[in-house]
Amino acid sequence: MKGKITFVGAGPGAPDLITLRGASVLSEADTVIYAGSLVNEKLLESAPRAKLRNSAALTLPEVIEIMERDFGAGKNVVRLHTGDPSMYGAVAEQFRELEKRGIPYEVVPGVSSVFAAAAALKIELTVPGVSQSVILTRDAGRTPVPDAEALEKLAAHGTTLCIFLSVGDMHALCRKLLDAGRSPQTPAAVVYRASWENQTVVRGTVSDIARRVEEAGIKRQALIVIGDVLGRDGELSRLYDAEFHTGFRHAGFQGKIALFALTRRAVLKAAEIASGLENAVVYLPEEFAGDVSALRARKFTGGGFQTALNDAWNRYDAFIFVMAAGIVVRLIGKLCRNKSGDPAVVVCDEAGNYTVSLLSGHVGGGNALARDVAGITGGKPVVTTASDVENLPAFDEFAKLHHYAILTPETLTAVAASVVNGGEISLEMPEELFRACFSGIPNFSLRKNRTDGIVEVHASGGSLKMRKLSFVLGIGCRKNVPAERIAEAVEAILKKYRFRREEIAVLATAELKKEEPGLLEFAKSIGKQIRFYSAGELNAVDVPHPSEAARKRLGIRSVSEAAALLAAGKNGRLYVGKQADADVTVAIAGGLPDE
Ligand code: SAH
Repeated sequence: MKGKITFVGAGPGAPDLITLRGASVLSEADTVIYAGSLVNEKLLESAPRAKLRNSAALTLPEVIEIMERDFGAGKNVVRLHTGDPSMYGAVAEQFRELEKRGIPYEVVPGVSSVFAAAAALKIELTVPGVSQSVILTRDAGRTPVPDAEALEKLAAHGTTLCIFLSVGDMHALCRKLLDAGRSPQTPAAVVYRASWENQTVVRGTVSDIARRVEEAGIKRQALIVIGDVLGRDGELSRLYDAEFHTGFRHAGFQGKIALFALTRRAVLKAAEIASGLENAVVYLPEEFAGDVSALRARKFTGGGFQTALNDAWNRYDAFIFVMAAGIVVRLIGKLCRNKSGDPAVVVCDEAGNYTVSLLSGHVGGGNALARDVAGITGGKPVVTTASDVENLPAFDEFAKLHHYAILTPETLTAVAASVVNGGEISLEMPEELFRACFSGIPNFSLRKNRTDGIVEVHASGGSLKMRKLSFVLGIGCRKNVPAERIAEAVEAILKKYRFRREEIAVLATAELKKEEPGLLEFAKSIGKQIRFYSAGELNAVDVPHPSEAARKRLGIRSVSEAAALLAAGKNGRLYVGKQADADVTVAIAGGLPDE
């Protein structure tokens, strides 16, 4: 029987900074050859059976000889390197020798000391507006450095420098940095034994760091970081910028999403997509359940794919199928009912190259979802609805986005046809909204500035009438929460779900909040009335997210959702289900205003 050889990154020092995989390989080792003083010996305790060899005392041929012999005897050999093996680990020569002998091996990465040092310094190595690159290097020592990579040259780039193996002569090193044109005021830091119990951090500038390191008595086992990223300046990263939606941060689709996949490749792609969406689960064959986090995986039960889909059809707002479109068309055909009720359906190939919006592109949000998914996979969204292709507005989408109810759904198709055929479209609506949505579109004109909540669209094919919905903000809060805290929570929800404050007609809550100072003050500050409901009234409403804890404490199952629904009247429905933080819960219900 043949053995196994694994090169493992031990991490920077702290024994719990080895990877899970590294620890597991180590626990099964028969032989461990470890790299002297920078590998924490505590790690070796987790290889109780192993014969231990310190490589500091061995030559390369001796190391290879041990590996070859133990491998031949069917043993598990672990070669344990500090940090990550690929950085100054002298692994290339070992790989070469093993390959020459036809001996296979694996490599498990580790946390390099450069990252442990950054953690100790609590810095980002790549700060926008300061430096977007990092040079990992060393000063020339016993091992020479190629001419083009001399520190005098690299330092001239002005990027962040992380320098290994070079703390021995800091004076010479700093001279080279100055020769390269770096300012003496450039921030500098040295981290000795990052992540070890005796970790030491020395901070300074290029002009004084050498002296400070000397005073601290550091001569080895330290990493040097040079650059303005050590300062506290820099621009905001665009990652959290509201205008900058990467596929991962912002998936615009609001609603519950189910992904379906049948093959292993498709399951892996589905998991990738799901992790970029807010509220998504992955339905998959039982045998691949281990490939997806248990939090998201939904196994096909006995009836398989078709049964799982039938069960799920009415429970999700959107479906993403990672499989051939033909399979999907055949299966969902029987389930489709009508334009306003069907969920969005998107189909994506296993490689994520194309995401096709197949059903409910406008009202159901399928087109937007196809774009979101393409943003995650790096693929191309395929959208076939005519108004999107021509970049023309669609009134069903307008209604959804601006919160109008369509009163004449029967004319929607004819009006849409007039739009895509370039017919004259004249509108009655608020002038400001017309300008924001339709100005500059050929053939669209404002017939009348109308502010009574009605929008009328006149086209040769017919007239479409819409009415502005009215909304209620249901609110619950802890006792004595200040008004500012409530305002902050409410603003965040309104922004997230794209409601404007003017669209909220009234607030609603439980009777027992009648004297709640923060809530009353908040309502006053935004000029809205509050409606109060008794426990009996609230408990009579069927809500999606009742709270058992609230029932026990207050005798009420739901405040925000139930109050919002009550105040929204008989035509009301929930637009935003309960959103809770530690102090405040909010829900939004709406409907056509009662006549
Ligand atoms: N493969 C290792 C580097 C090995 S070379 C890694 O990825 O970290 C050895 C050099 O690494 C040392 O001279 C020192 O510059 C740096 N080093 C290793 N461990 C360190 C630690 N815990 N703290 C600071 N520097 C360390």
